[in-house]
Amino acid sequence: MPKQTYPSYDAICGWNDMLPKRKARPSLEQDISVDFAVIGAGFTGLAAARRLHELDDQASIAIFEASEVGEGSSGRNSGFTSSEVLPRNATAESAVAAMRQTVLMRAALDWLIGLVAGHGIQCELEKPGAIRAAATQAGEAALRNVLEVARINGIQHEALSREDILDRAGTGYYRFGLYIKDTYLLQPAALVRGLADALPSQLTLYESTPVQRLERQQNKWILHTPAGLVRAHTVILANNGFIPKLGFLKSRMATIYTYAAITNPLTPSEQSNLGGSPAWGLLPPHRLGTTSRRIGQDRIMVRSLYAHEKGIEHSEAAAKLHDRFARRWPNLSHVDFEYVWSGATALTMNGSPCWGKLDDGLYASGGCNGSGIAKGTMLGFHLADLIMDIGDAHTVPSVMGNASFMAPEPFRSLGFTLISAIESRKAGLEM
Ligand SMILES: Cc1cc2nc3c(=O)[nH]c(=O)nc-3n(C[C@H](O)[C@H](O)[C@H](O)COP(=O)(O)OP(=O)(O)OC[C@H]3O[C@@H](n4cnc5c(N)ncnc54)[C@H](O)[C@@H]3O)c2cc1C
Repeated sequence: MPKQTYPSYDAICGWNDMLPKRKARPSLEQDISVDFAVIGAGFTGLAAARRLHELDDQASIAIFEASEVGEGSSGRNSGFTSSEVLPRNATAESAVAAMRQTVLMRAALDWLIGLVAGHGIQCELEKPGAIRAAATQAGEAALRNVLEVARINGIQHEALSREDILDRAGTGYYRFGLYIKDTYLLQPAALVRGLADALPSQLTLYESTPVQRLERQQNKWILHTPAGLVRAHTVILANNGFIPKLGFLKSRMATIYTYAAITNPLTPSEQSNLGGSPAWGLLPPHRLGTTSRRIGQDRIMVRSLYAHEKGIEHSEAAAKLHDRFARRWPNLSHVDFEYVWSGATALTMNGSPCWGKLDDGLYASGGCNGSGIAKGTMLGFHLADLIMDIGDAHTVPSVMGNASFMAPEPFRSLGFTLISAIESRKAGLEM
């Protein structure tokens, strides 16, 4: 059986399905030659391609997307984005490091928001802020550390009590909250579709065109796709958790699945359980915790669970997500989900991305973990700058770090199982 080099999901993305139908771009049906080939039309790949074009409008640039835009992880996520980097441990050193990252992220997010405004992308972008909410004593202690970094770095924030969170979001589940004002909520599938559809006409996007293999021949890269070969001078791997499936960065990143669900629309009386804020988002203090947000007037989304390499059974994921939802909103425990889906992302050992040059004419950016909207955009943008020799090539690695070594199989799976068991115990009711 051929190796699976791209994601294949058993459920459609709820965000994408809630949007009007979109006409996908045609797949590649012939052999072509281009200057730049970008693999993956998520936030990273789209930013890299657009920035390359900004820097050289004569270059031929093609983007290859295995699925349809909106069905990849960039459309499958929870739609939180912020430039504020807030490390868990509050030291003067970590606050300085976070501030340096914030500067890069802020510029990228401004660029992204400029594109949304400039192209009139309807992606329900709003800035209600987000609440980091703790259900446990350990979670509260962690958030009080984060609060300290927010204070040192002058990030606008507010400490919230259980009652405050109940008033805003209708849940009495959390004992402490840290409200960070500078956070956007958006419809992720609408954003990534909008960005793809607003690409300059000189860029060619091929959808439903998975890259199955990559090889070097006579100073060019050859990309194998089901119905055509691509000969490219330079290739950007922007396919995140699937970069290792093409044979690169195997010792730096792992493919991780996480899960999301959206409820059926709530009746007006059920909506009275959602608190007084018309829009809110709740983020966990622990990395294995549960995220949730209100969508419009009448729906809630929850995101939780992680699996390494192989997804969890759909019915099991749905049941676990529903348990997390019902614990937070017991008055709504009778409400079913309309959508449940998974999304692949990439995990690196130390949280730093895999970014930069891998070989002659071969570049990669992956491993932006759970914050790819801003970080993927930032990394893709700067990768194009690196390729075109613009700015200081050391800025991104020096600010973001480099992904550290990850043990090979079978140690990796054993390690993941062990660490997730330990961390799940620690996370407890934050899950
Ligand atoms: C459920 C969930 C919730 C999340 N919540 C948030 C959030 O609230 N905020 C946030 O910022 N981030 C969130 N994330 C993370 C975010 O989605 C990722 O960090 C982001 O999608 C990374 O963007 P990317 O462009 O690097 O990769 P991707 O979005 O994964 O894009 C890569 C693209 O490459 C394509 N591809 C893969 N292999 C191939 C191949 N061989 N050939 C051609 N194409 C290929 C894929 O189909 C995909 O579309 C969440 C992720 C998930 C799954």
